[in-house]
Amino acid sequence: MTLTSYQQAVRNLEYLKLKQMQAHLNEVVDFSIRNQMPFMDTLVKLTSYEIDVREQNMIHAMVKVGAFPHLKELSDFDFSFQSSVNREQILDFISLRFIEGNENIVFLGPSGVGKTHLATSIGIAAAKKRTSTYFIKCHDLIQNLKRAMLENRLEARLKHYTKYKLLIIDEIGYLPIEPEDAKLFFQPIDMRYEKRSTIFTTNVNFISWDEVFREPKRANAILDRILHHATVVTIVGESYRLKDHFDHEDK
Ligand code: ADP
Ligand code: MG
Repeated sequence: MTLTSYQQAVRNLEYLKLKQMQAHLNEVVDFSIRNQMPFMDTLVKLTSYEIDVREQNMIHAMVKVGAFPHLKELSDFDFSFQSSVNREQILDFISLRFIEGNENIVFLGPSGVGKTHLATSIGIAAAKKRTSTYFIKCHDLIQNLKRAMLENRLEARLKHYTKYKLLIIDEIGYLPIEPEDAKLFFQPIDMRYEKRSTIFTTNVNFISWDEVFREPKRANAILDRILHHATVVTIVGESYRLKDHFDHEDK
């Protein structure tokens, strides 16, 4: 039995695993006949269905790889609450221009003002643009490097953290860092320096990093590399977490 060209087309799409094109074939053929569409336009319309779904899947995978603490984006950020944040500056970060220049961003400010939220928003925007991105807390990064060192695979681990086009290191300074750990922490910073962009969040003023890292020399070496090509966004004001608390008090 010979197949009609329609049957053959369905079979070919199935063989090539072009599921979306297969699913939308009838509808696109109907549309094409109705509108007397040229072949090229029909081909574009049909292939676009496949591409759209693949792009969505890719974005989903990239965001998943990023290990973000939540999927909060810039649209969820209330700029009117946080007047010390320049919206245009954040939009510029979202454009990923800083990544082209291998520049860093530091969000500095007290707890609850939106540092992690903003860093995550930028990370998700990067992941959606297929920029390999990874989010990690400073404490976890150090613990991972420590474990890797004990297991004699520090080099591989450092390479792993260097390969991301964008790394977000959250919460520097929330916990004190032992000198041995500071030495470890310095390494990914040094390896990424001028090669890759990193976003940092911290609640500790740079002047006090000596205390966080115990050794002023180490603190300086780390700060030097972080700040050399960096935009520092200092956020002041109330914690968003306590917003409702304040609202209640007003009533
Ligand atoms: P930080 O990292 O500075 O301690 P977070 O980014 O974790 O603060 O913010 C604390 C919580 O408040 C999060 O749930 C965050 O999404 C929310 N939040 C903070 N600032 C804003 C804002 N301006 N608009 C909307 N949500 C905010
Ligand atoms: Mg935070």
